[in-house]
Amino acid sequence: MADNQEIVSKTHVLVVSFPAQGHINPLIQFAKRLAFKGLKVTLLVFITNELHQIPSSSIRVETISFTPQTDNSNCIHGSFFKNLQDSVSANLPEFIAKQTKDGSPVSCIVYDSAMSWVLDIARELGVAGASFFTQSIAVCAIYYHLNEGKLKIPVEQPSVSLPGLPELDTYELPSFVYNTKDYPQVLSVLYSQFSNFREVDWIFFNTFNILEEEAMNWMRSLREIKAIGPTIPSVYIGKQLEDDKDYGCNLLKSNNDCIGWLNSKETGSVVFVSFGSAAALGEEQMTELAWGLKRSNTYFLWVVRETEEKKLPSNFVEETSEKGLVVQWCLQLEVLAHKAVGCFITHCGWNSTLEGLSLGVPMIAMPQWTDQSTNAKFIADVWKVGVRAKVDEKGLVSKEEVELCIKEIIVGEKGNEIRKNSDKWKKLAEEAVDTGGSSDKSIDEFVKELVNKSS
Ligand code: UDP
Repeated sequence: MADNQEIVSKTHVLVVSFPAQGHINPLIQFAKRLAFKGLKVTLLVFITNELHQIPSSSIRVETISFTPQTDNSNCIHGSFFKNLQDSVSANLPEFIAKQTKDGSPVSCIVYDSAMSWVLDIARELGVAGASFFTQSIAVCAIYYHLNEGKLKIPVEQPSVSLPGLPELDTYELPSFVYNTKDYPQVLSVLYSQFSNFREVDWIFFNTFNILEEEAMNWMRSLREIKAIGPTIPSVYIGKQLEDDKDYGCNLLKSNNDCIGWLNSKETGSVVFVSFGSAAALGEEQMTELAWGLKRSNTYFLWVVRETEEKKLPSNFVEETSEKGLVVQWCLQLEVLAHKAVGCFITHCGWNSTLEGLSLGVPMIAMPQWTDQSTNAKFIADVWKVGVRAKVDEKGLVSKEEVELCIKEIIVGEKGNEIRKNSDKWKKLAEEAVDTGGSSDKSIDEFVKELVNKSS
């Protein structure tokens, strides 16, 4: 046993993340779980700006800066992907060679599936490769079908029926499917995730077996995949790792202590509003949401990133200061885990969806783009842990609708049903990551397989 432990501790895994918050978070958390199993783990992040780190004793975090040749560092531009690929290709072999020279050769590169070309580098260096998908299996199955030509763009029928998935109305498909003109490069990156789907040594998904059982069974008919999520710090779920309060690597700095404010509020009385790290609401939508929050007469904590602040109606913050707190960024998990929070208005990014579900917070889905509409479908109709806010003929969620949804969750009959389902899914998520749970077992299997392969 001791010998085996020694072999495990010498097995070095390099985790390479895509430089966006929604990608860094699950990968860093997965890295910590691998380290908890005894592996030596380094997280490598290619970044365009500063990374605010909370030191983690279990893994090493290394950064390499690169400068995208675009007028901004927004990662949806084609040149961003190209510059990232150039930078990784130029730096990764040297980085790996240095690990060998330092006596700690890399056995496996776990890379974000959006960077599928990392596998070519791994193969050239004789290192094993594992692709980590940061979106749901359901969403990835849709991209898989598109890539295989089994679903054609533009989707002309009002709804589609795909194996392992519920019937999806067109608007419930990922936005890139119907909005191909604006982001053609993104769609090609999403397809490329499957370019080496059968060859790569391991495939990981940030989900858990029972959450996406049917989609997973379908994907497992293509090849073996491992569900290892939800990748949420242990203080909140599973309790395996000690002192693991936050993901630990933020692209934005949390500049406000909202926990003190939450402490003064009653259980379940606060609506938490967050649209993640990238979604940008139109000014009109921002105004409707703002006045909807005010009309609901409920306490609210709203994350409005610095770049979005100018869209807030003038005087809104002053006018609602008795009921609301607007912050630029917060530790979202700490907020969601707070007993005062009774409802989460979310853009339905996959991490936020998993966080809301795993912490048992009923959600109001306001998807904006990319995979969020599909996640919203699952929140409202499959897991039934929230409602989807209806969009009017102008494409907006009106202030009246915001008010209605909040009341439905906080005081309405439907809220009770949703809270019951939320409690159920919270327990199931915990079971999956706890010792011996399905996701925990998948990680154990990977460690065993990797050690066998490397020795
Ligand atoms: N997040 C955070 N503080 C905030 C807002 C978001 O820590 O104020 C985190 C959130 O917990 C999640 C991530 O940022 O882990 C956002 O990822 P998601 O997939 O939900 O959305 P994206 O930013 O990719 O659109």
